[in-house]
Amino acid sequence: MPVECEVCGNPVAGAPRLAMIDGSILQVCNSCSRLGTELLQKRAVERPIRSSNPGSPSQKLLEPELELRLDYHKVIREGREKMGLSQDQLGLRIAEKTSVIKLLEGRRLKPDIILTRKLERFLKIQLFAPAESFE
Ligand SMILES: [Zn+2]
Repeated sequence: MPVECEVCGNPVAGAPRLAMIDGSILQVCNSCSRLGTELLQKRAVERPIRSSNPGSPSQKLLEPELELRLDYHKVIREGREKMGLSQDQLGLRIAEKTSVIKLLEGRRLKPDIILTRKLERFLKIQLFAPAESFE
């Protein structure tokens, strides 16, 4: 059964063409394809090219890469102070040495993933953030 042109209604000989007419993509015959912007059928199934433009909508669909916040030491200290804990107390509660807490808050030690998750859960803070939010 031949495909009918969605513009003029005539049966299309061979493969129909895809054309953008008034904002919609229609299957059209050869002559009607000239009325709109012809789209190559192959294009329509190709994956969209990834854009590196941060403002583009396609960027938001990508899984953001999470990285340790640059100001993690401040977030940890503020979280601890909010809970009214000293460095010793926090160390006891999360089973870390006070010296570790001191190093973290002094930004001389980057917590590993396990310690980071422990701090996040205990202090109800967020230490991982999408990498792009640092810029
Ligand atoms: Zn037509």
